[in-house]
Amino acid sequence: MDKTVYLDNNATTMIAPEVLDAMLPFMKERYGNPSSMHGFGGSVGKDVARARIQVAEFIGAENDYEIVFTGTGTESDNMAILGSLAYYRNRRHIITSRVEHPAVISLCKKLEKDGYRVTYVPVDRDGNLDMGLLKESVDDDTAVVSIMYANNETGVIFPVGEIGVFLKERGVPFHVDAVQAAGKIPIDVNAIQCDLLTISGHKFHGPKGIGALYVRRGTRFRPILYGGHQEKGRRPGTENVPGIIGIGTAAELAKMHLRDYDTKVRMMRNRLEDGILGAFKNSHLNGDKTRRVPNTTNIGFEYIEGEAVLLYLDERGIAASSGSACSSGSLEPSHVLRAMGVPFTSAHGSIRFSLSRFTTDKDIDHVLAVMPGVVNRLLDISPYWDSEKQQGRPINI
Ligand code: PLP
Repeated sequence: MDKTVYLDNNATTMIAPEVLDAMLPFMKERYGNPSSMHGFGGSVGKDVARARIQVAEFIGAENDYEIVFTGTGTESDNMAILGSLAYYRNRRHIITSRVEHPAVISLCKKLEKDGYRVTYVPVDRDGNLDMGLLKESVDDDTAVVSIMYANNETGVIFPVGEIGVFLKERGVPFHVDAVQAAGKIPIDVNAIQCDLLTISGHKFHGPKGIGALYVRRGTRFRPILYGGHQEKGRRPGTENVPGIIGIGTAAELAKMHLRDYDTKVRMMRNRLEDGILGAFKNSHLNGDKTRRVPNTTNIGFEYIEGEAVLLYLDERGIAASSGSACSSGSLEPSHVLRAMGVPFTSAHGSIRFSLSRFTTDKDIDHVLAVMPGVVNRLLDISPYWDSEKQQGRPINI
């Protein structure tokens, strides 16, 4: 294969050609400031307004006023939580899950140091949320609940609709990090009944460096940045116009292509997953098999290192991702797999493949053809595997 087989779409996606085409004029001749009084800038403002409608329609928002453009998904996540805390200044409790993205978890850890109380709701072995504990944890001191729609590592979908209904009755603000759901499954803010919802352009074939925060009309919320009047004062700073046009176009396209995810992408993901799980007895699936976004599979391998698999795959032109993060010289298994109780050894040997609508059957054929060589080569040099064999416990690979 001369082109990269790109199966790391939960990390970032290819910008769709139509998105790039829509953005280019705003990086060249249409550079006006959308806030300007003159027609040169004002006409750009009209395109920004159209992008806001495209994003609103993508997530089922009733009013485009409810969309605030931000710099990234991380910024939207931070803004949702900090903006709620800034309004409810006498509430000191936050609820989130143990498997959120660092954009939420790192902020919560910092807030704990500042004196806030944070409940990190656990998950079970399949990555499903402990709903009983979540509901029990809500009290009069809870300022905001922030729960992801779909997990970035396993693809597991959380019951955000059920949480939304529960929290609405209790009058507690609900933020949904929908970064990994957007473009893969339909999003409807009214069905979820959330107050705040985050998306990020580069996860659904839009550009990097542009996010959006949905803020339901009437939501009690304060800005975290102070400056000009842009985004109705909720996120001041001159707008990233090419990015906004990009996320708007990407949102419209993503809505059109949702069916492809439910059909074609899901079928390719299943073929890849079944092919690997069927071929290697030392492999297993991480995460609930049914409640998942259609593009993601996270497969754990006993006795081998995920990083080594990735390096060998990389040599063969395949880009995927592992379940560990290399931090300060030590290989820490992912906090998501650890929270699920995946044993240390197989958490270390976990690989995430994430597909997109640009993935082809040929890409999947290539991975399935390459995997046996990679896995067997690593098992051959694995000390753990060797000791298993010596103990007379060989498994058929
Ligand atoms: N939330 C989730 C679930 C994510 O997967 C990511 C990115 O991987 C983010 C938030 C952060 O988004 P961004 O890269 O736009 O800051």
